[in-house]
Amino acid sequence: MRGRYPTDEIPRWLPARRSARFAGRSAPAPVARRRAPSASAALASLEGVEIRLFGDPVLRSKAAEVTQIDGSVARLCDGMFTTMYAARGIGLAAPQVGVRKRLFVYDEPETCGRGVILNPVLADSDGTWMFEEGCLSVPGYSWQIERPRRVALSGIDLNGNEVTVEADDLFARLIQHEIDHLDGVLLTERLD
Ligand code: ZN
Repeated sequence: MRGRYPTDEIPRWLPARRSARFAGRSAPAPVARRRAPSASAALASLEGVEIRLFGDPVLRSKAAEVTQIDGSVARLCDGMFTTMYAARGIGLAAPQVGVRKRLFVYDEPETCGRGVILNPVLADSDGTWMFEEGCLSVPGYSWQIERPRRVALSGIDLNGNEVTVEADDLFARLIQHEIDHLDGVLLTERLD
């Protein structure tokens, strides 16, 4: 999920932020903006992991459970963190870098800090919260999207230990956004 930052800190290679609200589920404009996103993708690829953008089939496919935690998974996560920081994001799911595995990384210093969750399963949710949400795979756009305000999930960490997380507000939003990626769902499908 894209982070929020003061206007004067928006990297020059990101297109100017546009906010849009769609009444229906008609295809939003990002498809026509492929030229602009390529700048951020090119920068990210300097670190070896390229962010897949809206229109890439991998973003529409359901990811598979991680069955073995080895060095390649750790290296994947390292690369995802590097890419996420370069893109000013706070969350990044493996399908966004072309890997169909159920894991995501996150770092949001003011709420949840840094972490990795593998095979996350939402156990519970409640409340509703409207929030302006953006996605690194749909750069330059954000939408007001309603989701549950609080969630509980289970998963495993990079050491193979079971973890449970209870989250609210921004962290809960991030978790739901990233799990959507693991199921092949983009935030544009959450508009109504
Ligand atoms: Zn996203």
